[in-house]
Amino acid sequence: MPTRPRVGLAVLLSLVLVLVCDACSAGKTQPFPSPWADRPVVSLGFDVAPDLHSASGRERVVFTPDLATCELVFRAWPNKPKTSQAGSSLVVDRVTVDGADAVAQDAAAGAPGNAPAGTLLQIPLAGCARPGQHITVVLDFTLKLGEDVDERVGTSSSDQIAWFGTAFPLLAWERGQGWQRDPAVPVNGEMAVSEDFQLASLEVTAPSKYQVMGTGTAAGTRQGADAGTTVHQFTASAVRDVTVTVGQLDVVDRTIDGVHVHVAAAQGTGTDLGAWTTEVGVSQKALVRLLGPFPYRDLWVTVVPSQSSGIEFPGAVQFGAVDPDARRPLVAHELAHMWFYGLVGNDQGRDPWLDESFATYAQLVTAGGDTPAYADIPAEERRDVGKPMTYWTQFRRPSTTYYDTVYNVGAAALIQARKRAGADAFDAALREYLRRNAYSVATPQAVTAAFADLPAALAVLRQVGALPSVGR
Ligand SMILES: [Zn+2]
Repeated sequence: MPTRPRVGLAVLLSLVLVLVCDACSAGKTQPFPSPWADRPVVSLGFDVAPDLHSASGRERVVFTPDLATCELVFRAWPNKPKTSQAGSSLVVDRVTVDGADAVAQDAAAGAPGNAPAGTLLQIPLAGCARPGQHITVVLDFTLKLGEDVDERVGTSSSDQIAWFGTAFPLLAWERGQGWQRDPAVPVNGEMAVSEDFQLASLEVTAPSKYQVMGTGTAAGTRQGADAGTTVHQFTASAVRDVTVTVGQLDVVDRTIDGVHVHVAAAQGTGTDLGAWTTEVGVSQKALVRLLGPFPYRDLWVTVVPSQSSGIEFPGAVQFGAVDPDARRPLVAHELAHMWFYGLVGNDQGRDPWLDESFATYAQLVTAGGDTPAYADIPAEERRDVGKPMTYWTQFRRPSTTYYDTVYNVGAAALIQARKRAGADAFDAALREYLRRNAYSVATPQAVTAAFADLPAALAVLRQVGALPSVGR
């Protein structure tokens, strides 16, 4: 999520940390473990309206719980405060479970009072399901897109482009834990948790004059049922979210070290796609050296006219049309999320530091950026890195305080931990953390386990509240 605060960071922008990657150890190349064999199997379709202001959708999920459950829980994240207030919404119109109509109980869970639906959808099962049982659920939904918004779901009439990420009912299951129901909060950042699923098919139906960017690997096109429409197909072995862009797009396709990189922007916006593609290649190479193999075969990048920063998805990123000098750290940050959040997931509501502190850290190591050094952070601010999203609402400026702490203090602490433990040992432990926790929802305990042999690193992370104090 965004790397650039809007206000209030002036006092912290005291030091530019640039650690060139000549200091990095070479990335290991061993493959990641296989995804969860019983992961959900998702077929997702969007039928995009010709005016690019809405889409009707259908999602089919075959869910095999690893714990007994008597209900299904989905999240409708476009109804969270910021996207809802920008005019976007996700409303589920009909649900069937194993072929029978089911009742979906809608709960606000942080959605504004005037939102057409809540962020939480609970579907009681006719009978409780045992672990290993297959449940097939089909959800029909309507997606509305806000105009010219600085968010992950939106549309621009003037630029003829629509973009929508996390814009379908998202199964809220965490293996070994169960359902996630934390409320959405008015803080700039993600709050979702999602296990990897097999994206058996993503089908986007759009007017044939438009280009479509998806998630996973493109699997061809066919003529749509309605005249003048085309169905664009994609598929992915393991992703935990989906984003789509539709519009009058310029697209650059380039293979960079075996990764199929697709970079798009609305036509006529003057976006320098070549420069963006170059930055993607630079960051990709540096991050692979630091973190290990790139986790996806394809990378879909859209430069969105009304966005101001960047938003990550598995194998995809939405970027704002930022100034050229801001591109390198921003691209490095969002691409780092392909490992921290994409490959190794986390509950972004409960443990946002597991993706944001680490992504900012990897950005600083490979591309620099404006973040204070650990030594320059006052002792009383070296805390709270491990707090959940709900914690930050108590502050006068929730988003800024969250950003200053979880991104900046968290990343500075990781840099300090690396210094204390030694770069080679720290980098090796971090790559092993990524390998061991690939295709899972990681927890702070997984970090503790990964750095168990580097107590000096763990001590710094405990000091800032990222990990529990010993004995607590
Ligand atoms: Zn981020």
